[in-house]
Amino acid sequence: MNARQAIPIPIAAADGVLRERGQREVFCGLTGIVWLHRKIQDAFFLVVGSRTCAHLLQSAAGVMIFAEPRFGTAIIDERDLAGLADANAELDAVVERLLARRPEIRMLFLVGSCPSEVIKLDLARAAERLNARHHGAVRVLNYSGSGIETTFTQGEDACLAALVPQLPPLPQAPAAPAGAASSLMVVGALPDIVEDQFTRLLQAIGIASPCFLPARRAGSMPAVGAGPRYLLAQPFLGDTARALEARGAQRIAAPFPFGVEGTTGWLQAAAAAFGIGHDVVDRVTATARERATAALARQRRWLEGRRIFFFPDSQLEIPLARFLSRELGMQLIEVGTPYLHRQHLAEELALLPPGTALSEGQDVDRQLDRCRRAQPDLTVCGLGLANPLEAEGLATKWSIELVFSPVHGYEQAADLAALFARPLERRQRLAA
Ligand code: SF4
Repeated sequence: MNARQAIPIPIAAADGVLRERGQREVFCGLTGIVWLHRKIQDAFFLVVGSRTCAHLLQSAAGVMIFAEPRFGTAIIDERDLAGLADANAELDAVVERLLARRPEIRMLFLVGSCPSEVIKLDLARAAERLNARHHGAVRVLNYSGSGIETTFTQGEDACLAALVPQLPPLPQAPAAPAGAASSLMVVGALPDIVEDQFTRLLQAIGIASPCFLPARRAGSMPAVGAGPRYLLAQPFLGDTARALEARGAQRIAAPFPFGVEGTTGWLQAAAAAFGIGHDVVDRVTATARERATAALARQRRWLEGRRIFFFPDSQLEIPLARFLSRELGMQLIEVGTPYLHRQHLAEELALLPPGTALSEGQDVDRQLDRCRRAQPDLTVCGLGLANPLEAEGLATKWSIELVFSPVHGYEQAADLAALFARPLERRQRLAA
């Protein structure tokens, strides 16, 4: 469900970024399960939560029909509130039944929720207890997707950050040439089709065997240790990055691979870390860039000159704003982000038009006022805000679609633009 929370501390903008600390209107981190469970094929996500949590997951994932879904909810009933011992015993019994029925599960995530936090159910201890009981046949991990702690993309960050300490240590690699990296890990759940495209491009550039976190199977998660470099594919992975660095990996600073420019910059940054020049990247990507640029030109007629307002929701806002303004000619009224990671977004911030209005955090009523005053052509926001704004006559785009759809890389650049063009196209058709 949408978590609305009041943290009434208005903070002044000292560096041009408006900081908002008011009521939030966002999905919780449980939402990430909808794309994570499709990615790690032998994992299972067991939400330890209420019927509301189960309902959120079912409706968010409702478009997909699985005979045996890879997620479920262990319902904490009111009677569990009476005693933690009961809740722990109940959880153990649910896990026993699940693993007996689904022996193919190799990785089990216990996902915390608002109710499990309220009753202070210690899922880290539960994971330890269950790991001991199942003797390595299945790895039990835990993270929180609670709306008290996470917005919807932070659920993926929490999940991957929980995975990092479990990654195998890197075997001693042969020494790389001075100054060059020895191996590359791409971090962030990508649809398989996008992962395959990036693998081909990175290999063609000369990076022999890029690996991905998360991997498609629990048993093939990438190794980590001192030496390898990692490249973020998503801008919302601050905790995961910290966990990787604690194990010795180093981040490659890069823009994010959205649109032609972002994808090229991302590949160039990876190549440079391996001592490979931009000329190689330019040669390898020439055809894909040309194709994507031509496909983008077809979307540009809907978007050029149009004014867009981003509510803070997914942490994808800044890279998307850069893409929409620089490659499609959109005008940015305000770009809101739930959290601004200055280091990870440095390359993106440098590419934004000078003077772009940025806001960090949320104070939904004040943002709604600004949005209404500006009357943008398109508003990117969460589901909870989209309906009322549409009723007022504003065209909206649900930010959640941007994480459910394949949007990274050259092949998807025009599809990404089309996600923004469609609401405008539809309005024009209705008005005609
Ligand atoms: Fe609602 Fe919290 Fe459950 Fe998310 S974790 S669905 S915000 S109760």
